[in-house]
Amino acid sequence: MSKKRILITGGAGFLGSHLCDRYIKEGYQVIAMDNLITGDLKNIEHLFKHPDFEFSHSDVSKFVHVPGKLDYILHFASPASPIDYLKIPIQTLKVGSLGTHNLLGLALAKKARILVASTSEVYGDPLVHPQIEEYYGNVDPVGPRGVYDEAKRFQEAMTMAYHTFHGLETRIIRIFNTYGPRMRLNDGRVLPAFIGQALRGEDLTVFGDGSQTRSFCYVDDLVEGIYRLLLSDYHLPVNIGNPDEITILQFAEEIVKLTGTTQKIIRKPLPINDPKQRQPDITKAKSILKWEPKVNRAEGLKITYDYFKSLPEDVLFDRNHKNFEHYIK
Ligand code: UDP
Repeated sequence: MSKKRILITGGAGFLGSHLCDRYIKEGYQVIAMDNLITGDLKNIEHLFKHPDFEFSHSDVSKFVHVPGKLDYILHFASPASPIDYLKIPIQTLKVGSLGTHNLLGLALAKKARILVASTSEVYGDPLVHPQIEEYYGNVDPVGPRGVYDEAKRFQEAMTMAYHTFHGLETRIIRIFNTYGPRMRLNDGRVLPAFIGQALRGEDLTVFGDGSQTRSFCYVDDLVEGIYRLLLSDYHLPVNIGNPDEITILQFAEEIVKLTGTTQKIIRKPLPINDPKQRQPDITKAKSILKWEPKVNRAEGLKITYDYFKSLPEDVLFDRNHKNFEHYIK
C-alpha cells in the first residue's frame, strides 16, 4: 500500500513542527508549508534529510499549489500570540480567512480530508465556564484580539460550509493554551515570557492582578489529540486542552520555583480584552477520541525549561529580533 501524504501548513512553527515529527514517525509522507513570518526553519531542519519530508516556502493566503496526491491537510498556519496580532494584524486575518479558503479548495480538488486549527479564542472572554463546544462565545470584533478571533470564527464557518455544501471531510480542533519546546522565546506569550525573564535575570511581569486563569497543555498531548481527531469520523468542533486550571500569579510562582530565579514578580497593566478565565471542557474528546492529557504541568514545564536553557545567548537576548515590517503591506 502506498504511503499516506499529508500537507502541514505552518509546518515550521511551534505546533506545525511537532506535527511534522509525529507524522514522519507514523510513516506518512509530509509536506511542511510555511511563509516563515513567525515560523523558523530551525524547528524542522532535522527532518530535511528524511526521504519522506519536503518543505515548501509559500504563503497560503496567496495561493496554494501542491503537485501530486494528498490524503490529508492540517491547516496550522497562523500567528498565535497577542503580540503577533498587533504586529501583523492583516496577515493574521488573511491566513485564517483567505488561507483557509485556499486550503479548503485544495482539499476539495485532491479529495483530501482537512483538519483546521481553531482556538479557545472563539469563546472570547467566556461567560460560560469551563468552555463547552456548544458555547458561542463573547468576542469583541474590533478589539486587539479581534483579528485572530474573528478570522478563526470565519475559518470554522467556512470549514462547515465546505462540509455541508461540498460534502468535504473536515475536522475542527479548538486548541487551548499549549506549551513545550520550540515556542518562540520572544512571542510575548506568558510561558516563554516568564522563562525568558528568569533566564535573563529580569523580573517576571504579571499582567493585571494575576487572578486571570489559563489551563496549559503539553504539546505532545495536543499532538496526540490532533492525530486521533484527524482519524475520527467527527466533523463538529472538539476542544483539546488540559483542564488543569491555574491563575497567572500562581503560574509565575511555579516558574520562580522551577528556575530558582531570585528576581521579583512585578505587575504590568492588563491588556485590553484579556480573557478572565479559560478552561476546556474535554468531555467530547474523552468520549469521541478516548483522549485525555497525560503530561502534568511539573513534567511538561521541566522539559520546556531545559529546552529554553539550551538556546544560544543571542536567541535568549533576542539580538536578531525579527522585524515583520516588510510584510506589512
Ligand atoms: N501574561 C502575563 N505576563 C506576560 C505575558 C502574559 O501576565 O508577560 C498573561 C496575559 O495577560 C494572559 C495570560 O498571561 O492573561 C496568558 O497570555 P498569553 O499571551 O500566553 O495567551 P492568551 O491565553 O492570553 O492568548
